[in-house]
Amino acid sequence: MNRICVYLGSNPGFDPAYAETTRRLAGELVSRGLGLVYGGSDVGLMGLLANTCLGAGGEVIGVIPERLVEKEVAHTGLTQSFVVRSMHERKQKMADLSDGFIALPGGVGTLEEFFEALTWNQLGYHAKPCGLLDVKGYYACLSDHMDRMVSEGFLVPEHRRMVLTSSDPADLLDRFATYDPPHVDKWIEKKKGL
Ligand code: AMP
Repeated sequence: MNRICVYLGSNPGFDPAYAETTRRLAGELVSRGLGLVYGGSDVGLMGLLANTCLGAGGEVIGVIPERLVEKEVAHTGLTQSFVVRSMHERKQKMADLSDGFIALPGGVGTLEEFFEALTWNQLGYHAKPCGLLDVKGYYACLSDHMDRMVSEGFLVPEHRRMVLTSSDPADLLDRFATYDPPHVDKWIEKKKGL
């Protein structure tokens, strides 16, 4: 693995625990020689992650749509920045540059980006690890809901297990390093014309 894509809030969240884990993830990425790919903004947890990686001597690549350069305060001091035309291009570029995907706490943007990476994985467009950094149980309800998807027959257990979850950045990255992607079909039963 060379680079990890991290999705995270453009807000900092109220609890200092979010910033603390963001800094710890930055330290782990840099100490393992892993570059960071992220949304290119200088605000919220996004800016904190980029600045902490840069401060520790890490590589940081930002990918930001032109419409958001001002709105999200594009970071001007990154190792490399890509200004792209659309959100779709942003997600594709971030995925192409990365060998795995992590979501730290964030809002709907974070979830949207993470779930797209997960759906691409489920459909076989890539086989890169996807993980949730569950600070303070922030993702507990989401994890419960994914269990519900399995129990209600909308998600196969192998794909549920693809979502690696940990509260500890080092543990999550260790599991990324040994990740073995599942080889199952997305459909539990391919029934036509129900
Ligand atoms: P949020 O978690 O809502 O604070 O957003 C975190 C990041 O996700 C920000 O850089 C948003 O611009 C980005 N984002 C929001 N919606 C999308 C989307 N549909 N595609 C790609 N990035 C998005």
